[in-house]
Amino acid sequence: MSAQNAEIMVSCFLCGADDAKEIFRKSRSGRVVKCRDCGAMYVNPRRSGQVMSAVREGDAPPKVQPDEAKWADANAAIRFALLGRWDLLPEPARLLDVGCWTGFFMRAAKRRGWKPTGIEPVAAAAEWGRENLNLDIRTAIFEDADLPRESFELIAFMHALEHLHDPDAAIRRAHELLKPGGVVAIECPNADSFMARIFGGRWRQFIGDHVSFFTPATIARLLNKNGFSKIRVKSIGRAFPLRLVADRIERHYSRSIGGIVEFAIKCVGASNIGITLNPGDIMFAAAVKR
Ligand SMILES: [Zn+2]
Repeated sequence: MSAQNAEIMVSCFLCGADDAKEIFRKSRSGRVVKCRDCGAMYVNPRRSGQVMSAVREGDAPPKVQPDEAKWADANAAIRFALLGRWDLLPEPARLLDVGCWTGFFMRAAKRRGWKPTGIEPVAAAAEWGRENLNLDIRTAIFEDADLPRESFELIAFMHALEHLHDPDAAIRRAHELLKPGGVVAIECPNADSFMARIFGGRWRQFIGDHVSFFTPATIARLLNKNGFSKIRVKSIGRAFPLRLVADRIERHYSRSIGGIVEFAIKCVGASNIGITLNPGDIMFAAAVKR
């Protein structure tokens, strides 16, 4: 057995217990279990190569859509508006985007007056953002990144936490890096959603890179135990061009239905029209450092 395929048994990332029941023997993420003590869901065992806890070099440059900035701005607007409604939106100052990928959320935040710093372990994505968007993106693992304590007003984990082996350590670290009264914002899949329930082990969020899964209850527990209060959680949608709907249907559910939708969209000339779609299985959470 090569080191890449060695299997490692892990404890619950949320409460540390070793008492979990198998809920999906074979998903695309691997074997998914649920902690009997706290309800956290995670992949167990892990393949040693199934990690993002290492900087990843050598990937091809990421595929970036020509209108990506436009949609990133629209999606950032929805998220900042929600933080505002929750009274959890600090005055624009220093923002840390953990797992920022190419940096389009950072770019959108910068346009709103924020000074963003990004951390991204996939070297090719980080490099793309530095060179094309002129952003301060560090190729690094969040836990290892050299950042000053109590220096950020807002820390965002946009589709990042589900990739982490130890999301508890990451939120603890975020608490250290936030100024008193600073806000953490998290967007991640909701494993307790209707979509997750009906698709079971075939849920679109079970992919190779995802190892930690959350529900509104477990994300609230994670935030509470690491020193956050005023915890809010809500299902959130995404604005994107209609032509991508067909692409997503093809990729995740059905090739033939995706093809029909694509054809219909082309026929009515609606490829660049945007829609906000909320399948209900993505949640947005925020809380303030106490
Ligand atoms: Zn647990």
